[in-house]
Formats: sequence, C-alpha cells, structure tokens
Amino acid sequence: MENERLDPWGNSAVDNYERLRSEFGIEPLKPLLTRFKHPSLHIRRGIDFGQRDLGRVLDAVDSNKSFAVMSGIKPTGVFHLGTKMTADDMVYFQTLSKKATVFYAIADVEAFNDNGLSFQQSSKIAIQNVADILALGLDPERAVVYKQSQEIRVMRMATIFSKAVTNNMLRAIYGERQVGLYLSALIQAGDILMPQLPEFGGPKPVVVPVGADQDPHIRLSRDLANSYREDFGFIPPSAIYHRLIRSLDGSTKMSKRSSNSSFALDEDPSSAAKKVMSGLTGGRPTVEEQRRIGGEAEKCPIYDLYLFHFAAEDEYAKRVYDECYGGIRMCGECKQELAGIVKKYLEEHRRKRDSLMKDAEELLENSRKSLDSMPR
Ligand code: SF4
Repeated sequence: MENERLDPWGNSAVDNYERLRSEFGIEPLKPLLTRFKHPSLHIRRGIDFGQRDLGRVLDAVDSNKSFAVMSGIKPTGVFHLGTKMTADDMVYFQTLSKKATVFYAIADVEAFNDNGLSFQQSSKIAIQNVADILALGLDPERAVVYKQSQEIRVMRMATIFSKAVTNNMLRAIYGERQVGLYLSALIQAGDILMPQLPEFGGPKPVVVPVGADQDPHIRLSRDLANSYREDFGFIPPSAIYHRLIRSLDGSTKMSKRSSNSSFALDEDPSSAAKKVMSGLTGGRPTVEEQRRIGGEAEKCPIYDLYLFHFAAEDEYAKRVYDECYGGIRMCGECKQELAGIVKKYLEEHRRKRDSLMKDAEELLENSRKSLDSMPR
C-alpha cells in the first residue's frame, strides 16, 4: 500500500483520510464534536476530519480567554472553492468567541517562490481576496491582515528559525525543493507563531485551519515552537484539517492552476454553471443502470460541491445523497439543480464582495498602521 503524499505546493492525493491521520499523527476530530455548541457545516459533515491540540483552543473558548485564528492564503488569484474552505473555517473560529483574533497572512512571498507572481501582482489580487473573506463573514474589528513581504516580524522569525533548521530536516518534511520554497516555509512558521509575540499579548492558543496538504507547514511550526519555547514561551500551534475538495475534472484536488478543475468566486455565473454541467459525476453508464443500482455520490465531484459548499441545509445534502444511491436522481437533473444554486450564490457573493472592496482596502491599511505602531 502506497503512503499518502502531502505536498503543500503540488497536487496532493489523499485517498484515505484515516490512513493519513495515523501516518502523520493527526488526531481525529470526532471526540471533540460535543464541545462545539454550533458546529460549522464542515465540522457537522466530517469535512473537517482531523486536528492537533484543538482542545486547547476550545478550552480558551470555554474560559473566555484570548486565542488566535491564523492562516496564510497565497494571493495567486481570486478565491476558488478550495481557498473558500480555509476562509470559511477562519470566519467560523472567529465567531466562537469575542476573544478570538484572526491573523490573515497574504502569502505573497510564497506566491512569488511557488507561482512566480511579482509582489505588485500579488498586491492587486490581495485586496480582492480580503474583500472575499469579508463577504464570507470576517469581522474586520478582530482581524489583522498583512503581507508577508512587508512584515518584519515574520521575516525576523524566519531568520531566527533558519539557525535551528538543517537542510536534512526540510528535505525530510518537504522533499527536495528549491531554496525559495524552504524560505517560504520558514516565513510561514513565522506567520503561524507571530500571534504569540509580546506585542500581540504573548503566548496563547492559536488554531490554524488548513487543507490536509498543508500539514507539513503545521509540523514544522510545531517543531519550531518547541525548539524556541524557552526563548519565546511559544505554545505549539493547534490545527484543524479539512478534506480536499475534488476537482470538477475528477483530479484529486481543486487547484487555481487548472481553470477547468474549479471555478473562482468571481467567475461569470454562467461560465461556472457550464463547468458544473460538464463536470465528472459518479453516475452509471446508462440511465437504466443508474435507476437499477443508483449512482455513487461518494465518488462524485458534483456531490462534493453540494456537500462542501452549496447544500446549506444538512437535510438537503442527505436527500441528494439518498436519491443518488437510491437511483431516483439522475446526473443531468442533479447537475442542472446545482448549476442554478451555484449561479445564484456567485451573483450574491459578487454583489457583496464588490460592496466591500473599500472596506478591504481600509482593513489592510488599518492593519498596516497598527502593526507599524507596535514595538518591533
Ligand atoms: S446523481 Fe448527482 S450526486 Fe449522484 S452521481 Fe449523479 S451527479 Fe453525482
């Protein structure tokens, strides 16, 4: 049996999340489910499947203590459905407590090293990304948004961390990569640990919502938190992991790199609907066979879209699943139904996002001023 591959900069293939958990020491989320009073859609449906030390963050929620929610998103394009999942989880954890602050790193150094995007290009895209997360519900009053390339604290920490990390350690976590990507990894560790610096209130629980493929960054950050515990008092960051949504063309992960594999949140609604209509399904070769033995929702990228994003009610997602397996639902009508929902969602999201562009610029500007005014 082949090992699961986890590559934060490539197309990770995860066939078996249970095996992935045990291989990399990720804890199951299930034992903590009763601690969520209002679990998010991702948590209720098992899309968030694993965690590391999440109990520490839930303790902070229960005892009304400060904690941080941190994630970095590469500004390589408009949010697509994969990045929306991370953003949704960031927003959800922020809603759990008035003592939660979101740190959103615009990962422009990583975008430069991994995707060849100049900082100027990233800068333009980043404003739209921030407007996207505001439209998804981020409270700007409890959010710090910054560009990696401009934040001296993360650069300084990356420099400090580089003394404790050897080439062999990075190779063991990430495989043989260009030095720029290793540098991005150290900067990401700086992002993840920055909320625990004295100017942000010192050591505290931090939850990092990520896709399963980003686990190498979490492992590196946790190792570094332990290595620098004496110097900074770091608490190893916690993480919650979501499954990777399959692409519409059937490949393992939706990616901004392949335009037909997904659609962005600013895609023309009709074009997105067309992509849905041409997406792969878990259907049978003939209608007769599908009626007789049912479709396979679990193998179906269209069902993923219902489950991960577009069936707001659990009952509706269950109905799609049951009707598919029961041979009541045919793929053509199932896609048609989803295309209608997607169109409506994108129109609504675009309206919200466009109205928030100015707020996004303000949030970036206010965060920059506030970060610059703090001791460094
Ligand atoms: S009926 Fe819907 S959920 Fe089932 S396989 Fe076809 S497209 Fe997928």
